[in-house]
Parts: sequence; structure tokens; C-alpha cells
Amino acid sequence: MPERRKPTKKPLIFYYLITLAILFVINVIVLPMFMKNSITEVDYSVFLEALQENRISQVEMSDDGQQIYYVAQDRHGQTQQYVTVAMPDPSLLDRLLESETKIQFSRIMPRQISPLLTYLFSLFVPILFIFGLGRVFSKQLQQRMGNTMSFGKSNAKIYVEAQTGKTFRDVAGQEEAKEALSEIVDFLHNPDKYAKIGATLPKGALLVGPPGTGKTLLAQAVAGEADVPFFSISGSEFVEMFVGMGAAKVRDLFKQADEKAPCIVFIDEIDTIGKKRGDGGLAGNDEREQTLNQLLTEMDGFDSRKGVVILAATNRPESLDPALLRPGRFDRRIPVELPDLKGRTAILQVHAAKIAMEPGIDFEAIARATAGTSGADLANIINEAALRAVRKGRDRVQQRDLEESVEVIIAGYERKNATISPKEKEIIAYHEIGHALVAAKQNNSAPVTKITIIPRTSGALGYTMQVEEDERHLMSKEDAMNRIATLTGGRAAEELIFNIATTGAANDIEQATNLARAMVTRYGMSDQFGMVAFETITNPYLGGDSMRNCSGETSAAIDREVIKIVKQGHERAINILKDNLDKLHELSRALLKKETLTGQEFMEILNA
Ligand code: ADP
Ligand code: MG
Ligand code: ZN
Repeated sequence: MPERRKPTKKPLIFYYLITLAILFVINVIVLPMFMKNSITEVDYSVFLEALQENRISQVEMSDDGQQIYYVAQDRHGQTQQYVTVAMPDPSLLDRLLESETKIQFSRIMPRQISPLLTYLFSLFVPILFIFGLGRVFSKQLQQRMGNTMSFGKSNAKIYVEAQTGKTFRDVAGQEEAKEALSEIVDFLHNPDKYAKIGATLPKGALLVGPPGTGKTLLAQAVAGEADVPFFSISGSEFVEMFVGMGAAKVRDLFKQADEKAPCIVFIDEIDTIGKKRGDGGLAGNDEREQTLNQLLTEMDGFDSRKGVVILAATNRPESLDPALLRPGRFDRRIPVELPDLKGRTAILQVHAAKIAMEPGIDFEAIARATAGTSGADLANIINEAALRAVRKGRDRVQQRDLEESVEVIIAGYERKNATISPKEKEIIAYHEIGHALVAAKQNNSAPVTKITIIPRTSGALGYTMQVEEDERHLMSKEDAMNRIATLTGGRAAEELIFNIATTGAANDIEQATNLARAMVTRYGMSDQFGMVAFETITNPYLGGDSMRNCSGETSAAIDREVIKIVKQGHERAINILKDNLDKLHELSRALLKKETLTGQEFMEILNA
């Protein structure tokens, strides 16, 4: 983010008043000053009168003989310049010579402020003034809008090693990405080594992955490691208010880079300019296309042996224009995926190193409870834990702080003073135990680690946490069915005990339905359809929207299949709860009393 100065609060009227004041000064003081030196046009009779009264000191005839310029004293004794039309008057010269005052016949300078000059003056002073005012305004506007108006000037900032201060040590996990990038670092250090053998390095590398996995961080680390200038610009900065500016910026950026080679150019969020051409959007499309075309041209135009390496990052690779991805441009693609268990542990440790921690913290336990989170989430968890430790008046972070902050990231803060009626509390307790019990009574479900009915700011009234013992990479059909049964377990308990259905199950239902649909349309887990894909994921790194691709008839059949699967899970859940009715009551009562049960407490009651 560019540093923004606080915009001045002076209202427009202030500048308006200043303008008026200055115009007033010009009219009343400056112009008359000039007028004084100007020439007054008078009748011939006035000239004769002045001559008679001996007030004339200087006379000059214009070259064409049409006019007489003269200098005379006016009635107040002040010297003035006059002009009058010359009349046929043969004796004039004699009379001038006879005049009592000694009249000089010489040039009268300055003859006059030329009308043109006066005109220009009256035209340009206000224009200059308005121009100046405009500059003041545009500067302010620029500051307010983060330099969007800097005409044709690129915002590419030069970072040098000292400024990013990041190295590969700051990036935990992501070993594959680091390895791929270290080749680029090496190339920037000794290009000769590569030139000798005749190898050309890829011109560009594209970092691809979900948000918060450290793409920007990796690019900064490359700059830190390579110890070369680092030009960084965000794709959104290219898309300017003014048409054509984007392309100009690209040109500018590459010109700078060329001068500073070897160096790194980093284009963050490249999808904003690199979208497939010709799809979607009417307005502004042209501008984006021009920018993209310029980028393509520039990438072709420079010699990578010179040592300019282009890095770019995106979380929407599927939307990028194919031309960007062809060999010779961003031909190398570096996946930066969500971290695995080992990666998460490492990321937690990297960030914990900056924070005062009690010795013997089990980072792996935290990493296990945070499957599917990104590096940014994990950094946030560490910080939340530190904040919690401060709130609790401690000077070191404990395991407990980390556990609590994991829940904050997952479910939001505890709502300590939410008032929930005893009856509702009871329903919530049975609902959560329903989930936990179904999970525990199935084979291969992840162990329950925590059940709570303390409401959270996310809107969750309670939740059941399950943590896998090991990292899972695959989900079998059996696992999926288990999961659906567990998700429906909450509602099943409500129905069984209170004979009601509540809105509390809405999120469970959504998750169960999505999973069931994926089983049918993408995982090939339904007997009716077998291994046919009916849906494709359109943006795998951003939520994973899917697009169904089948006939209406099949679509209806898919829906029926999905309903069947969820129903199966629901029935299984009801059966499990029916078989363990006394445990359901016992556990729910325990949960109502304590509000939170640990996995261990839960298992103790269950196995008692
Ligand atoms: P992206 O650009 O992929 O969206 P960032 O690089 O901006 O993500 O990461 C955001 C923050 O998350 C980083 O500043 C860093 O604190 C943390 N982070 C993400 N991934 C990692 C990682 N692998 N190691 C250490 N910190 C990470
Ligand atoms: Mg980023
Ligand atoms: Zn539920």
C-alpha cells in the first residue's frame, strides 16, 4: 500500500475565495499600474490645447504620418502619454518649434503595451492560476486515490534486499516451490554458468495457489535471496482510470527493469490483467486487453539472458489467457498449495519464533487440528494466541492459548453473554452429542476432540471438533458415507429426543448435501452413474464453484441420487443413536452441566 498523507480538510469554497481575492487584486491594483503607462487616445483639439498651454514635452509622428504621439502634463501636473489623429496642419511644425517649452522630437518609449500583450496578460494570468490550482487539487486527489492519476508513470516500486528483508527461511514448508525458485536465484547470481552450457532459463514463473499460502511471501524471499533489484506491482494497479495507462505502465515497468538487469519483476494478482481475452464484460475490457497485449509483447521483446526474471502470482490460474502460459512466457508453473501437517507445523514454528512462548509447546497437535488452513491462517492463530496471553495477563504463550485461538479462527470468539433459554440449551446439547456419538460409533471416523455448547460469534451455537490422527489425502466412499451420517447426527438426535426439527442443522444439511452431490457428480461413488463426471470445478483455489454439465433429465436423476445418499446417512445416524440412547442422555446431561467436554472426557463417559 502506498503511504497516504492525510487529505487536507479545506473545503472547496476556501480555494474559490482565494481565486476571487487574487482576481480582485489583479483587477484593482495590477491592471491600473499597467494602464498608467499606457497611452490615452485624445482628440486633436486636446492636443492643440496642450500645445497652447505649453504642457507638451515630447512629440513624435508615427511612421505612416497618421498619428501623433506626445507626452504632456495633464491638468494635475502628471506626465502622460497621448495619441491623437494627425490633421492636415502645415503650420504645426512651426508652432511646435515656437513653443515656450523646449519640445523634444524623439521616440516615445514605451509606445504602448501592445494590445496583444494586454490580451495575453488578461488571458494567461487566470489560466496560469487555474492551472496551479489544478495541480494542487490533483496532487491531493492523487494522495487520496493512491496515485491512480500519475499520468504514464509506473508505480513499480524498487525493493532491494534490505527492504523486503525476507529470505527462504521465512517461508516454512513449500519445499517444492522453494526448490524451483532457488534455480532462478542461482541464475541471477551466476548467469554465466547457464550461458556456458547454452541453457536459457524460463522467462517467467507463475506462482499458483489458494489465498494466503505464501505466494507473495515467496516472491519477496526470492528477491531477498537473489540480492537483486525487485520490481513489484500488483495487477490491479495496472488497471487504471484512464484508458491506455495500463499499457503505458507495462512499458514503463519493463523499461525500468531492462535498465536495472539483472533483476526480478513481480506481478502480483496477475489474473486482474491476464484474464482470457474476449470473455465477459463490456466496459473496460478494451483497456485490459491492451494492457495484456502490451505485457505479452514486452515479455517476448526482451532477452532473458540479460537476467530479467518475471514472477507472477495468482489464485485463478484457470482464468488466465492461454497466451500468457505458452512457452517463452510464464512457462513454469509453481504450485503453492495449502500446507500439509509437516508444513503447518513448520509454519507455526516460524511464526512462533517471533513470540515469547512457554517451553515445550506441542505445535504438531495444533497443526493436526488445523487441516485445510493456509499459512496466513496459521500466522493469525499464533498472533491470536499471543493476544489472548496478554489478555490473561501472562507474558508467555501457553498451549491453551493456541488451542483457544484455533477455535477462534474456526468458529469465532465466544459469546459469553449470549442468553440462550434452558430449553434451547438442552436441544443444542443433544444436537452436538448426536454428532459426536454417531462419529464415535462408526469405524474410521476421526476421533472427537472437543464438544462445546458455548455460542460463538460466527453464529455457531455449539460445535463438535474432530481431528484426524494422521494427515489424510484420500477419502473412500465409506469415509464419505460416515461423514454424511455424522453430519446428520445432530438433526437425528433432535428428532429422536424432542421430536422436532430446528434451524440449527442448516449448516450440517448444506455440508452433507454438497458432499453427497460431489460423490455422485465428481467422485464416481454412486452405483447408478458410476465413473462419470457431471460437474467440473471452475475455480479450485477460490471456494471451488462447480459447473454442472449434463442434460436436464440426468440432472433430475442426480438430484434423486443425492437425496437417496443423504437419506441413507440420516437413517444410519438414527439407528446408531437409537442403539445408544442411554449414552446419548448421559453425555448430553454431562455436556449441559459442563458446557464443554474434551475428547477424553467424552470417551470416558462413552466407555464407562
Ligand atoms: P498469498 O500471496 O499466497 O495470498 P501471502 O504471501 O500474502 O499469501 O501470505 C500472507 C501471510 O501468511 C504471510 O505474510 C505470512 O505471514 C503467512 N504465510 C503464508 N504462507 C507462509 C509460509 N509458507 N511460511 C510462513 N508464513 C506464511
Ligand atoms: Mg498475495
Ligand atoms: Zn450440527
